[in-house]
Amino acid sequence: MKSIPGRLDGRVAIVTGGGGGIGRAISHRLAAEGAAVVVADMNTQAAERVAQELREAGGQSSARQVDVTDPRHVAAMVETTVAQYGRLTAMVANAGILQVKPILDITPDDWDRLMDVNVKGVFLCVQAAGRSMREQGHGRVLITASIAGKMASPYQAHYVTSKTAVIGLARAAAVEFAPWGITVNAFCPGIVDTSMWDIIDRDRGALLGKEPGQLKSEMPQRIPMGRLEQPEDVANLVSFLVSDDASYITGQAINVDGGFVMH
Ligand code: NAD
Repeated sequence: MKSIPGRLDGRVAIVTGGGGGIGRAISHRLAAEGAAVVVADMNTQAAERVAQELREAGGQSSARQVDVTDPRHVAAMVETTVAQYGRLTAMVANAGILQVKPILDITPDDWDRLMDVNVKGVFLCVQAAGRSMREQGHGRVLITASIAGKMASPYQAHYVTSKTAVIGLARAAAVEFAPWGITVNAFCPGIVDTSMWDIIDRDRGALLGKEPGQLKSEMPQRIPMGRLEQPEDVANLVSFLVSDDASYITGQAINVDGGFVMH
């Protein structure tokens, strides 16, 4: 879908994990539709690169180094955004990590690290956004969940648990934030062709005895739309959810996955 110029004029968005595959596409789309976008990522170089791309394309953007597991980082990210652009109107809590391991091999440290980023990090962003948006009576909070929050795949129990958890968080926050005019939704991408799926292809593929590249190349046969998802497919949904057209949608976990999961 083509971007709709001006649809998000005056909006100010933070995209965490904005330096990665899906976050970059979301950042591009929001900026192309008129939002000022803070590209926030632990990987400073990646965040700078994306913010630069957005500016070169005529958008308003700055980069922010953030570790979403650190409450001080998250609070400072929101404060500097408001100081620079006057307000925060959309938080896209998108940063996430994945590890492929059988349950019997997952260590307590593996579990804590993944939950820290994928659940606590999202919670901190939701909380900071709510605090900032409450007084203005308007806001959009979006959480990158996954179809992994609605179905199980082998060797990623901690990831599956984390994505199920943030769907619950979206519902809980939707109820509490609704009186302030803030909607909260999760969205659930499917098999998106980013570096994260390269890890799945390599590590799950190895555990299943497959050649490198084989698992990924087999996936389109299992997707009704018959192709891998591109980060731009996710960005199409996110720009809609940020827009005024989505003002009556809250507490949902919306799949954008080519029909892979239908509930
Ligand atoms: P990616 O690895 O390309 O991007 C993730 C980004 O998050 C990276 O830039 C990384 O530096 C950043 N990050 C990691 N830990 C961070 C932290 N503590 N603080 C700040 N930034 C941090 O992966 P992606 O595919 O773009 O994934 C983005 C989101 O989409 C993740 O939440 C992921 O779980 C979710 N997702 C991905 C897929 C897929 O198939 N790729 C499917 C469903 C959901």
